[in-house]
Amino acid sequence: MANSENKGVSFRQSVDLMVDRAMAVLELDPGIAKAIKGCKAVLEVRFPVEIKGKLEVFSGWRAVHSIHRLPVKGGIRYAEAVDQDEVEALAALMSYKCAIVDVPFGGSKGGLHIDPRKYDRDELQRITRRFTRELATRGFLSPATNVPAPDMGTGQREMAWILDTYKHLYPNDINYIGCVTGKPVNQGGVRGRVEATGRGVQYAIKEFFRHDDETAAAGLDSKLEGKRVIIQGLGNVGYHAAKFLQEEDKVLITGIIERDGALVSDSGLNVEDVKEYVTENHGVKGFPGVEFVEVGSMVLEKECDILIPAALEAVIHGGNAGAINAKLLVEAANGPTTFEADTILRERGITVLPDAYVNAGGVVVSYFEWVRNLSHMRFGRMEKRMDENRGLHIVNALKETGHDVPSWVAKELTRGPDELDLVRSGLDDSMRSAFQQIKTTKDKNDKVDDFRTASFVVAIEKIATAYLDVGVY
Ligand code: NAD
Repeated sequence: MANSENKGVSFRQSVDLMVDRAMAVLELDPGIAKAIKGCKAVLEVRFPVEIKGKLEVFSGWRAVHSIHRLPVKGGIRYAEAVDQDEVEALAALMSYKCAIVDVPFGGSKGGLHIDPRKYDRDELQRITRRFTRELATRGFLSPATNVPAPDMGTGQREMAWILDTYKHLYPNDINYIGCVTGKPVNQGGVRGRVEATGRGVQYAIKEFFRHDDETAAAGLDSKLEGKRVIIQGLGNVGYHAAKFLQEEDKVLITGIIERDGALVSDSGLNVEDVKEYVTENHGVKGFPGVEFVEVGSMVLEKECDILIPAALEAVIHGGNAGAINAKLLVEAANGPTTFEADTILRERGITVLPDAYVNAGGVVVSYFEWVRNLSHMRFGRMEKRMDENRGLHIVNALKETGHDVPSWVAKELTRGPDELDLVRSGLDDSMRSAFQQIKTTKDKNDKVDDFRTASFVVAIEKIATAYLDVGVY
């Protein structure tokens, strides 16, 4: 069974069923509802690449969901479970996600059916460059219309190869550098993009804990410090979310679930130590001094305050939703909860912060990167020294008028923000504002009693308005 399937309901159908709940609340015209829900175009490519002297044929997809804004945006995933249904579901989630966090993009997603661990760097580079040519020459890659980013199995390295291939195909495109986001900083990437999705997960949780009524409804007190957290997947998203929550918010990471099993410790695991071990040993098995659980998925059912699936889709399904023992489920991965499981969790009163909101930090910072690329200038370059001088004048004026300025205040006032400060500030603001819009929608509408439906209502209202304002042809 592919990851994207669960009890006869595919991933795409599962997303659509969740979206239907929101469309029913909005009493949307069926024609508009249909126009919004389906993917507008899907490209399927098959291409040969010579690997160790033999030709191998690879299959890839790029789905475009909504074009109410351009470019469309969404990651490229390298995994064996990739299929067209999965890519379409993920493209739809991207449209809703961008609308929720007010990022002016439509939704798209790409995937290559491959186990990247089976190929060396040179082979992956040739495969990626060939896939890029297939996408670009068919109109599915350009800074104006369709801009990919990293996702599962891809990262900065693959984005740099995509950029370089596009640049050589279209050297006259002055904005070529914005054809992909999630690039290394020295290739036009923005500082803070690698950590962005995990950072956004942290900001979403922090904002949830600022609302006493919501923490109380979830059966939690409003102090994030000391909360017991279990995380699945210590990849890009899971590692950064766990690291920031542990280092800055002092939560206790009581479980880490990886491919080969899980680690549990009631007194808390050190995220950096486990990450270092996973990088060296390709798994968590053998990590010293803590309990190892062979069937990692069992740890999803262990008691905790916050459960963060940050790996795959459909890991919380009809078979285990009744046994989930967390008060708050924070969906860092895309589609970790099936429609069936979502219904069970709602009945059980478990609070769910949905994927379309929680993991939107990546696309928010990708938006910043794209804007930086189009402006051809790093954020903060024009105003940094000006801000520093302004702060210096304030400090000097206070001192001259006999006021004592504590050294930490003087230091903060005379430091102009750098690019990372600005990116984090913009991301924090986007996650907070989106949460507040979702909460307002939930609180003011008697037909909405969960964050997922509220998030989709927020998104669909914006997308429907964009369609209706220009007319649908
Ligand atoms: P990644 O490839 O960096 O990490 C995935 C991690 O999950 C790896 O550590 C892998 O070993 C682990 N894993 C794989 N199978 C597992 C299993 N059966 N049980 C437990 N762990 C398993 O991927 P990522 O970029 O961190 O993406 C994770 C999820 O977050 C995906 O659903 C992705 O779509 C979503 N997401 C990613 C981004 C981003 O910016 N990277 C943005 C939004 C959403």
